[in-house]
Amino acid sequence: MFAILLGAPGAGKGTQAQLLMKKYGIPQISTGDMLRSEVAQGTALGKQLHEIMTRGDLVPDALIMQIVEKRLQAPDCFNGFILDGFPRTIPQAEELSKFLKYKMHIDITVVDISVQDDVIIDRLANRRVCGTCKKVYSLTVNPPIVDGKCDRCDGELKHRADDQVETIRKRLNVYHDNTAPLIRFYRNKKLLHRVNGLQKVDDVFRDVEKCFNMNKNAKEGYTTGRAVVEAPMN
Ligand code: AMP
Repeated sequence: MFAILLGAPGAGKGTQAQLLMKKYGIPQISTGDMLRSEVAQGTALGKQLHEIMTRGDLVPDALIMQIVEKRLQAPDCFNGFILDGFPRTIPQAEELSKFLKYKMHIDITVVDISVQDDVIIDRLANRRVCGTCKKVYSLTVNPPIVDGKCDRCDGELKHRADDQVETIRKRLNVYHDNTAPLIRFYRNKKLLHRVNGLQKVDDVFRDVEKCFNMNKNAKEGYTTGRAVVEAPMN
């Protein structure tokens, strides 16, 4: 399974990527996590990244491509990977297409998880992430048993600096200007599938899996050509 999960920040890409990783044993490649880990190391680059990310802006394409291309050449990616939060701009998507064509010779399934802005703002403002095991909580939907503590590992729950309402709005603007055009980009390439991200996590997962199965069936000749599937938006 080679997958790109598209969607606004907070659409549920990370949650779905983790479920896919668990079920299919292939790595989740989250550029956001990779950048946060650089920030945590406190390097000069990490400090620059921290500034950009806290503002809600995008990190320059060239730097992102360097990080991703290196990561995709690691042996654990040979049988599949799930890209979460990448690509985020048309130039990133174009570079990725070239890279996949010349270096990896693979086709990729693209799934856009659609969620409206007002829901995103609510979700991210209430999101808390365990600083240790990275489990994600929602103060409204699945709050921790003990305030501020992770149920799984007792780690401290953090409110990401970029999950403050003003920064969320900025990230959404950045998403609409730079990332949403990828929906058309991949639709034109007949690679796009869409699922309704407003459903319960398990139902979103069921629909995400359907997209991969449809693509597989299309390749095996059960349908004519590559399916462009618009999963029903309930
Ligand atoms: P995320 O965890 O995916 O929401 O990413 C957090 C932040 O990291 C974003 O707001 C950007 O500043 C940066 N970032 C993550 N992925 C990318 C990317 N593919 N291109 C540019 N910036 C990125």
